[in-house]
Amino acid sequence: MRPRKGSAAVCSRCHQPAPGYDQLAERRYDFIPFWGFLVFLLYAMRRVDCRRCQAVVVEEVPWGNGKHQLTNAYMLFLARWARRLSWKETAEAFRTSWDKVCDAVEHVVAFGLEHRVLGQIDAIGVDEIQYAKGHKYLTLVYQIDIGITRLLWVGRERTIESFQGFFTTIGDEITSKIVFVCSDMWEPYLKVIREKCSEALHILDRFHIVAKMNKALDEVRAGGSRRMASEGRTPLLKKSRWLLLRREENLKTEQRFRLRDLLRYNLRTVRAYLLKEAFQQLWDYTSPAWAGKFLDEWCRQTMRSRIEPMKKIARSLRQHRELILNYFRAQKLLSSGVVEGLNNKAKVTMRKSYGFRTFRVLELALYHSLGKLPEPESTHDFF
Ligand SMILES: [Zn+2]
Repeated sequence: MRPRKGSAAVCSRCHQPAPGYDQLAERRYDFIPFWGFLVFLLYAMRRVDCRRCQAVVVEEVPWGNGKHQLTNAYMLFLARWARRLSWKETAEAFRTSWDKVCDAVEHVVAFGLEHRVLGQIDAIGVDEIQYAKGHKYLTLVYQIDIGITRLLWVGRERTIESFQGFFTTIGDEITSKIVFVCSDMWEPYLKVIREKCSEALHILDRFHIVAKMNKALDEVRAGGSRRMASEGRTPLLKKSRWLLLRREENLKTEQRFRLRDLLRYNLRTVRAYLLKEAFQQLWDYTSPAWAGKFLDEWCRQTMRSRIEPMKKIARSLRQHRELILNYFRAQKLLSSGVVEGLNNKAKVTMRKSYGFRTFRVLELALYHSLGKLPEPESTHDFF
C-alpha cells in the first residue's frame, strides 16, 4: 500500500492533517486470511511535524494503529471467534499465535469498556469465583435487571476493598439508584452492601443457601460413614451421596430401596436429611411473614437436633433472617437463579482460556464473553 499521491498525513494525536516530516521503514500488518491464504498489508508509515501538538508524530491510518501488528478488522475477527472457540483453538484455526488472539481480545475489550453505557442499573448480583488453587478468588458483579443481564465488573480477591472498587467504578449517582442487591453470605460483601446500598433491598441468593445446606448434609453423612467403617460395618453411606442430595420424587425405584436401607442404618444422617427436605418448603411461600414463621420454626427444631453441621446452618440462617426474607419481599420483581446462571457461564469461560490463569487474562476473557460490550465498527461484516 502507498499513500494517495499528494494526500496529507493525519496526526494520530490531534486527528488533523499536518505537514509531512519523514517516512518510517515498511511494516507488515496482518489482515483477515482469505480462503485460507494469509493476507498481509505492507505499508511505510509517515510521520508528521504537527504544529498543533508541537511534536513529530506518526500518522493515523484507518486500518490499525502503531501499537499492533494486527489490523483492526483482523482483531475484531479474531476476538469474535475467541468467544466461540477457546483462545488456543482460535490461534490454531487462523494460523496465528495465542498472544495475538489475546492482543485482539484486549483491543476489543478496551474499546468496549470505554464505550459502554451503564445507564440505570436496578439490580446487581455479586458472587465470587475461584480461579486457581490456594484460595485465589475473583469478585464478579453482574447487572441482573429483567431486560438486561451482563457482567459489569471483575475484581481481584473477594475482600471489602475489591468489592468497593466496583462502586468506585460506577460512581455515586448510579449506585444510589440501585434497588436490589443479590449476594451470598460472605461477610465482606454484606458489609460493603450495608455501607454502599443501604437504600436497596438486599437479598440472599437462594442457590447459595441450598448449596450450604447440601454441604452440611454431606458432612453429617461423611461422619456417619466413618463411624460405620470404624465399627467394622459395611459403609453403606459411601456411595449414597447423590441419593441424599436428590429430591425424593426424582429417585428411581431401585434407588429408593437403597435410600430406605440407608435411612435404617444411620439415624443422624436421616435426621439431617429430613431437616434438609423439610427446609425446601420454605421456597413455596409467597408471603414474607409466613416464610419467616416457617424459618423460625425450622431453626428451632434444628437447634435441638444435636447435629452440629446442621446447627451451624441454623445459626447462620437466624443471623441472616431479614436478608433471607427479602427474597420473598422481592420475589415478584427479581428472577432468582440469574446469578447462578451467569456464574456457570463464567466458569465455562475460564476453562476456555486454558492454563493461562493470570488475573489479567481472566479479566479480559470474562468481560469479553459476559460483558455484552459494544464492539468497534468495522467496514465489512465478514460473518
Ligand atoms: Zn497533532
